[in-house]
Amino acid sequence: RYDIIIVGAGHGGAQAAIYLRQWGFAGSIALIGDEPELPYERPPLSKDYLAGEKPFERILIRPAAFWDERSITLLPSTRIAAVDPAAKTVAAADGRSFGYSILIWATGGTPKRLGCRGESLGGVHFIRNRAEVDAMTAEMEAVRQIVVIGGGYIGLEAAAVLRKLGKSVTLLEAQDRVLSRVAGEAVSRFYEAEHRAQGVDIRLNAGVAAIEGEGRVCGVRLVDGTLLSAEMVIVGIGIDAAAAPLQASGIAGVNGVDVDVFCRTSDPAIYAIGDCAAHENAFAGGMRLRVESVQNAHDQAACAVKAILGQPEPYRAVPWFWSNQYDLRLQTVGLSVGDDQTILRGVPASRSFSLLYLRKGRVIALDCVNATKDYVQGRKLVEAGAMIDPGRLADTNVPLKEMF
Ligand code: FAD
Repeated sequence: RYDIIIVGAGHGGAQAAIYLRQWGFAGSIALIGDEPELPYERPPLSKDYLAGEKPFERILIRPAAFWDERSITLLPSTRIAAVDPAAKTVAAADGRSFGYSILIWATGGTPKRLGCRGESLGGVHFIRNRAEVDAMTAEMEAVRQIVVIGGGYIGLEAAAVLRKLGKSVTLLEAQDRVLSRVAGEAVSRFYEAEHRAQGVDIRLNAGVAAIEGEGRVCGVRLVDGTLLSAEMVIVGIGIDAAAAPLQASGIAGVNGVDVDVFCRTSDPAIYAIGDCAAHENAFAGGMRLRVESVQNAHDQAACAVKAILGQPEPYRAVPWFWSNQYDLRLQTVGLSVGDDQTILRGVPASRSFSLLYLRKGRVIALDCVNATKDYVQGRKLVEAGAMIDPGRLADTNVPLKEMF
């Protein structure tokens, strides 16, 4: 029996264990994860780790000794298949069972499947964990033509790395623009133009009918009948929350696990944090949603740990995010949920600009491309929900910090 069990040894779970010890918790802690490795950072999987520019040791969240020194029990390669909230136990798929006083659920998400024929062929990859990226890397030298399915951040980042590695890359997006779920049109069009200039063949409105091949992938069939040759396929079309064991135990939640402002689930002894936690986000106008970012995983870990330690503080962290593609650094602050106006600040062709998102006249988010000053200064505007004349926001001669 452990005082605290954390299920999921990714960004949120590892950080929760770190905060518990940092803030003086002396009881027993088990960090249970289904991957074999020590906790590691996920963002490099579609960036410098995929590019072969960073060895695995450099993406570890903490070195091995850190966990030992703090008496945090790591239980790797352990998949939790069931939770019994009444008995306060979690059961692993291999039959082991562990008792807890407090449970923190931090299981992230699993990649969405296309649901079409050929998805399980050799050479079809989903970028979510190290094992998958290593499998991809092992095949990399032998392949030239790669089809990336999905024009979200992960698909675009992977495409950028693959071009750098000299591969021929076709990127398929089902919508009429890339990043359609997360960014405004100006940002989408900018990234489309950049990728095309770098040699990526971007196909918009491209529905996938099937992945072709026998044993191993040889092509992708589009809904309109087109057949694209492919020696490797990378699918990045989003994730579903990995919450099934908790939901099956009766804990509330449809899209993930529902939590309150202290990251508590419908069971007071169970918390949920990170990609799997559906919370009412103050920066999304109070809408219940899941936020898939390192920021959210870290800050919800802090929120849950404070509540566990008897010093609850409602979750109200400013959302931020980044994406690296080629020499472009995109930095986002806020959530562009329900925006009704966008304002372009700067000229995309200069490869340094920002897009500001407004809801009812208030600044709710910024996407800043190679524009770190706007990102840093815009944070205050988002925090305050500032109302500023759109003409001024667009004026690059006036720094954002002078507007509020
Ligand atoms: P995770 O870090 O995914 O950890 C969950 C862990 O739980 C995993 O190890 C999983 O295998 C394990 N698990 C799941 N189910 C079980 C179970 N039943 N039993 C035991 N263990 C289980 N965010 C950014 O902010 N910036 C970026 O640039 C960025 N780039 C990304 C690039 C890639 C390729 C990916 C995949 C994600 C990226 N993200 C980025 C998102 C970010 O990594 C996630 O938001 C973050 O990892 C969420 O943390 P988490 O703790 O909720 O989940």
